[in-house]
Amino acid sequence: MQRVPAPSVGGRRKNILVVGGGPAGVAAAVAAARAGFRVVLAEASNCLGGQLAVAGFTMLRRGRLKGWLAEACQELRAGAVEVRLNTPVRVNGIGAYDHVVIATGAALRPWPLMPSGRMVVLDAWTAIMRPSPLPAGVVVLDLEGEWSAVDAAMTLATHGHAVTMVTAAAAVAHRLSGSEQELYHERLLEKGVRILTGSAVKFIPRCEGPILHNTVTGNEFPLPSYIGAFVVASPRASRVRLWAEAHASHCVTRIGDAVFPRTLDEAIAEGEHAAELISNMSA
Ligand SMILES: Cc1cc2nc3c(=O)[nH]c(=O)nc-3n(C[C@H](O)[C@H](O)[C@H](O)COP(=O)(O)OP(=O)(O)OC[C@H]3O[C@@H](n4cnc5c(N)ncnc54)[C@H](O)[C@@H]3O)c2cc1C
Repeated sequence: MQRVPAPSVGGRRKNILVVGGGPAGVAAAVAAARAGFRVVLAEASNCLGGQLAVAGFTMLRRGRLKGWLAEACQELRAGAVEVRLNTPVRVNGIGAYDHVVIATGAALRPWPLMPSGRMVVLDAWTAIMRPSPLPAGVVVLDLEGEWSAVDAAMTLATHGHAVTMVTAAAAVAHRLSGSEQELYHERLLEKGVRILTGSAVKFIPRCEGPILHNTVTGNEFPLPSYIGAFVVASPRASRVRLWAEAHASHCVTRIGDAVFPRTLDEAIAEGEHAAELISNMSA
């Protein structure tokens, strides 16, 4: 086996801090360790996985998360990567490293419309992780058009809720490929989820409750009274704060959803590529 000479500076091995233990950060940490760097991987929450950990709450993706976690832990151990959980990194904590990889991922954008009164409103990731305490009738608003709304709807339906999905587009998960859309559509119908396309929900001040607005005909209807909760799957937005504060003054590389929300495979590929980029920069 060919040995990689360890990248060094002043006689010591170069060190890299990877911020974020999602798929991109883990891939970058493993690849950087293989390239000979001393690597610390810092994750703000108490587990690795990032959005994959959210997705892993659903029956559909539990196996995928378990497989990924087992492999990731093995590779991190093999590379002697120091993993620090419960460690949110701020800009004042990165100065001691030769290079910092920012893999802080993405979060659901806060939803500006907050209905008042009896309605419970929460975001799709919270609903996926804690579906049980919600009222029986739930509307899932698919504003994102990717996985969060369908995963939330299927999880809630599996837990016995009466779920209606609402999207202004012609199909749920409209930003995914045609075959994925079809697959999800079939699975949602199997679970008894009602799907309303070409529709939006309006909250009118001083009105009893939310109104369902048909975006094609312009017709408006009050929502049935058994609906007690709204689950909002808003678009994902990159977490850019650390990058914004650090990139002008520190040696940093940004990867994965922290650049722009993308797919799992793209995030992993970027993580793997990051070590090569840093090695070239350090050469
Ligand atoms: C429900 C759901 C289902 C999905 N299904 C699919 C699918 O079927 N196919 C697909 O391709 N993609 C899917 N995705 C998207 C995919 O999971 C993401 O694209 C991928 O996880 C992005 O990886 P990432 O490492 O860039 O970011 P993330 O997964 O967001 O990870 C970022 C990590 O950084 C941590 N962090 C943030 N700030 C700090 C800080 N300052 N200090 C330390 N740590 C920090 C966060 O806690 C998080 O763990 C799904 C996403 C969700 C939510």
